[in-house]
Amino acid sequence: MASKLTGTVALVTGASSGIGAATARWLAEDGASVALVARRKDRLDTLAAEIEQAGGTALAIAADITDRLQAEAAVQQVIERYGRLDTLVNNAGLMLLGPVEGADADEWDRMIAVNVQGLLYTTRAALPHLLKAADDSPRRVADIVNVGSYAGRVASRGFGVYNATKFGVHAFTESLRQEVTQRHVRVGVVEPGAVDSELGSHNKPEVRGEIIDPFYDGTEVLAPEDIADGVAYMVTRPRHAAVGELWIMPTEQA
Ligand code: NDP
Repeated sequence: MASKLTGTVALVTGASSGIGAATARWLAEDGASVALVARRKDRLDTLAAEIEQAGGTALAIAADITDRLQAEAAVQQVIERYGRLDTLVNNAGLMLLGPVEGADADEWDRMIAVNVQGLLYTTRAALPHLLKAADDSPRRVADIVNVGSYAGRVASRGFGVYNATKFGVHAFTESLRQEVTQRHVRVGVVEPGAVDSELGSHNKPEVRGEIIDPFYDGTEVLAPEDIADGVAYMVTRPRHAAVGELWIMPTEQA
């Protein structure tokens, strides 16, 4: 039996771990050929092999999407390999928390570079191909799913610059939605609460000890697959139905 995404091609950024890896697996199971983009090529190769072994199709592309030329080259590689692009999942991200006072400005730069600039570069490069897919593919619809956050809805102490990047992602999503939705490129944001992934591990030990670990130790958080399931839901709606926003929280997270 044909799966819902058979014949389509999806590009997932940040596919080397966490939500991105789970989403790539999920979309492959739904029949999409998946392009896996991140910096850690060994992880991508392992995931691509796993997907292929399960009967899917995958392409591992090493790229740092904060470099505009690398983001553009990643999209180009997908087009050269598959000739099309139907689904873009902008998932790559970084969360470095802590007070504004005395903050490491380099951490801010790195977060803004991947969460905002990388997402913009990848989107800009992919958009012509998504518009084409929406126009001439059998499904006649294409999708951009941006991975925002609960932190893109609600600001909290210690989250300031991460909040700024994710509020920015949500705003950009809605603006682009209005621009292209009538050409049947659906643009939506998925907004996870706390998920079990590597995201918190990049923080300084004091930040992990004060903000991250106490919360994770006391809460049953989401699995990356919970978010992958949401992304798959968004991109498998019938052509006339677009999910603009999907907010998924751990039940225990107030
Ligand atoms: P992970 O740290 O497990 O995954 C982050 C991914 O982003 C990795 O695959 C990493 O790959 C990739 N990445 C980071 N920098 C770059 C870069 N410069 N170029 C290309 N890829 C890059 O965390 P999650 O899976 O949790 O995070 C995925 C998304 O979900 C993020 O946008 C995050 O903000 C969001 N989110 C996560 C929540 C959570 O609680 N975990 C909650 C709400 C939102 P590599 O290092 O190989 O480049």
